[in-house]
Amino acid sequence: MLTATPPHVRRSGQARAAYVLIWVFLLLNLVIIELMLANPKTPAHNTLTTVGRVLGLHLAFVLALQLLLIARLPFLDRRLGMDRLTSWHRWTGFTIFWLVLLHPTFVLLGYSQLDKISFFGEIPNLAKQMPVLLGMIAAGLVAIIAVTSVRAARKRLSYEAWHFIHLLVYAVIVLAVIHQVYEGSAFKTNDLTQIYWWGLWAFAIGALLTGRFLVPLVRNVRHRLRVAAVVAESDDVVSVHVTGRDLHKLQARAGQFFLWRFLGYNRWWQVNPWSLSAAPDGHSLRLTAKAIGTTSAGLRELPVGTRVFAEGPYGAFTALGRTRQDTVLIAGGIGVTPIRALFEDNTLTGDLVLLYRVRTPAEAVLLGELRNLAQLRGARLHLLTGRTSEGHQPFSPENLRGLVPDITERDVYVCGPAAMTDAVLRSLRTLRVPARQRHAEVFRLAS
Ligand SMILES: Cc1cc2nc3c(=O)[nH]c(=O)nc-3n(C[C@H](O)[C@H](O)[C@H](O)COP(=O)(O)OP(=O)(O)OC[C@H]3O[C@@H](n4cnc5c(N)ncnc54)[C@H](O)[C@@H]3O)c2cc1C
Repeated sequence: MLTATPPHVRRSGQARAAYVLIWVFLLLNLVIIELMLANPKTPAHNTLTTVGRVLGLHLAFVLALQLLLIARLPFLDRRLGMDRLTSWHRWTGFTIFWLVLLHPTFVLLGYSQLDKISFFGEIPNLAKQMPVLLGMIAAGLVAIIAVTSVRAARKRLSYEAWHFIHLLVYAVIVLAVIHQVYEGSAFKTNDLTQIYWWGLWAFAIGALLTGRFLVPLVRNVRHRLRVAAVVAESDDVVSVHVTGRDLHKLQARAGQFFLWRFLGYNRWWQVNPWSLSAAPDGHSLRLTAKAIGTTSAGLRELPVGTRVFAEGPYGAFTALGRTRQDTVLIAGGIGVTPIRALFEDNTLTGDLVLLYRVRTPAEAVLLGELRNLAQLRGARLHLLTGRTSEGHQPFSPENLRGLVPDITERDVYVCGPAAMTDAVLRSLRTLRVPARQRHAEVFRLAS
């Protein structure tokens, strides 16, 4: 007898498909690159320049890969989540940094040996050639981006300053392409390798321009988002309701977030990620923000009718990642926003339990809505209050099992302060809840 695959099983397979695709892409390209390098027709002056060329080609490949990781392609983002893609992007970024140090070092060592001059004497010698000089400038910019992305430096910089420096990557791309046109050799051995190489770069740059500029632009022109209402939820939390045309075509899901710009209200380069705090119904979107800095604190002054430019929807913290029938949702503080949306999501079928952690009941924003939803859905809602201390660990393995005895049979979605999320994930590991059933959203993209 044929049985249909349950939707949650089919969906979790989509994330696996994205992993497989990335691995196939990586391995296939690496094989082609190694074959190109092994071609005896590629010129070699001496061993050092050969090593420099090997490093250079791999550097250019990792750079192209980096563009794909930061392109915010909906296909990857929906399956893997922007936080995971961002953390990979961080690793490839530091790989680029090391390759950027090693590639010119070996090239300079090789040429200094050939020209019989010192390593440092070779620098001005090679810099006389414009494409090499442009490569050196690109390497300097990569070094600046990498140094300002090291955690210690990142903490000292404002988000805007760090982001502005990161935009130098666009200059790096232009300089790197020019450098390769004139200095690249391994991919120039025949027409096929040239088509492959420039096809790869066209794909990476095309993906970046599409994901970062074209898709957001088309979506915002199409949907014409505007602030419809601003509602104070507490002294320091406010909800902004946004409407627009054909919002169902956005295909936003509960648990996702957008990067929001309020035009004419904050400056164009200021963009803030806020999650949807209600399941999108095709007619309106809602975000709920806690006052942290100037932009979030000022949201309550937003005039109704303000034009909104939103990039997204982004994120894989959705019911698409579900692997089991029943679910536990765990929220801490303002981390309740995507959890509130998921609590409303009618694709989360099966038994639902919500654990909401706040210090005092007065801090529990959106509690009234959660209670109504719990009643409507026949779901359980536990409000966990009090200070965390040695004797009071609301998310210890014992407490979690006490509250949800069958927790190992459920998907668990958690969003809250970093320390709380870590405590929950630790306990889930202790309880042997499989990794594929653990889903966490961190309100952090950049570090
Ligand atoms: C995926 C995601 C979803 C989020 N969802 C919510 C939510 O639903 N409700 C809520 O209250 N908060 C949410 N946050 C946190 C929220 O983005 C910040 O509190 C807010 O941007 C602070 O902005 P500000 O300008 O008022 O404060 P600032 O003082 O200017 O910023 C405070 C800190 O917020 C972070 N931040 C600011 N802008 C950005 C940005 N563009 N990208 C990444 N980090 C930034 C930086 O770490 C910065 O140091 C979310 C964050 C992320 C990454």
